[in-house]
Amino acid sequence: MTREEARELIDRRRNELGERLIILGHHYQKDEVVEFCDVVGDSLELARKASQIEAAEIIVFCGVYFMAETASILAQDKAVYIPDPTAGCPLADMADIRRVMQAWEELSRIGKSFVPVTYVNSSAEIKAFCGRNSGTVCTSGNSQLIFEWALSHGETVFFMPDKNLGRNTAKMMGIPGEQIVQWDPDQARGGLTDDDIVRARVILWKGWCPVHWPEFAISDICSMRKQFPGIKIIVHPESDPETVEASDSAGSTAQILKYFRGLKPGDKVAVGTEFSMVKRAAKEYKSIIDIMALKGIYCEDMGKISLENLAATLTNLEGKEHRVVVPDSIVREAKKALDTMLRLSE
Ligand code: SF4
Repeated sequence: MTREEARELIDRRRNELGERLIILGHHYQKDEVVEFCDVVGDSLELARKASQIEAAEIIVFCGVYFMAETASILAQDKAVYIPDPTAGCPLADMADIRRVMQAWEELSRIGKSFVPVTYVNSSAEIKAFCGRNSGTVCTSGNSQLIFEWALSHGETVFFMPDKNLGRNTAKMMGIPGEQIVQWDPDQARGGLTDDDIVRARVILWKGWCPVHWPEFAISDICSMRKQFPGIKIIVHPESDPETVEASDSAGSTAQILKYFRGLKPGDKVAVGTEFSMVKRAAKEYKSIIDIMALKGIYCEDMGKISLENLAATLTNLEGKEHRVVVPDSIVREAKKALDTMLRLSE
């Protein structure tokens, strides 16, 4: 199928399906895909949208698999599709349910109360685990609010799977470094002693997003500042705490876009996040501010969504190939965890 044929097919199917169809897309999607999305947003915005959609019966999610799974959990009466079911998330894959449950069992032997919180970038099973154990979900846009809630419901947050987002959030809240520890699933008892666990207010699963870490580093910020004195730097909080500290600001994709709106005409800003979004923003704001990438790094999985597989999905809604189905046994508890997050961040 040529690109032109794919475009025509997508247009034709959108017209035929009308209000029955909604296409959601993450900010990290390519321009050619974004062009066909009815709503473009970050994980929190898209999760909220999925929970509120009334008219549509069909959701096509242009993003990675955990996002489509989240939409399916929140919109049980809709049929949810993803153009490429192999578009996964290496960060989400780092928290495997079996290892998380093993860690939870070991933690539970210490006489403390833990509240499990998972980043939305995780499998439906991990979300269900959090729901089952009176925990919740967070995004990079609401992590502080969720950690505060968790710490008002227990002594320690057990956070999965992004160590960097977890540490950045805990630091922002003023939690001292010695009370933030890391659970390494490759080591016996996470590599922690009883004393470490007793002392901890936050336990971080050792996972990371390979797009943001170790890719964006202080050395990139230094060379940017040297090349463009006065430039502002904003990074995503999946970058490590040292990089976040050396930047002027950090935030989710929605918060990064908001940051641009607060800049003065003529300002220069370098952005440490996925390149598709940075390129699009640079084009959109080119007559007002100068937006550049701290480094041009793409998320390969986000990039798997194309015009061709979007067209193929829309022309084969009867088939199972692109359909996202979460087992009922997981939906109920995962939804409980997601609903808590949505209620807290209203
Ligand atoms: S950018 Fe990172 S966290 Fe987001 S989907 Fe890609 S690998 Fe996962």
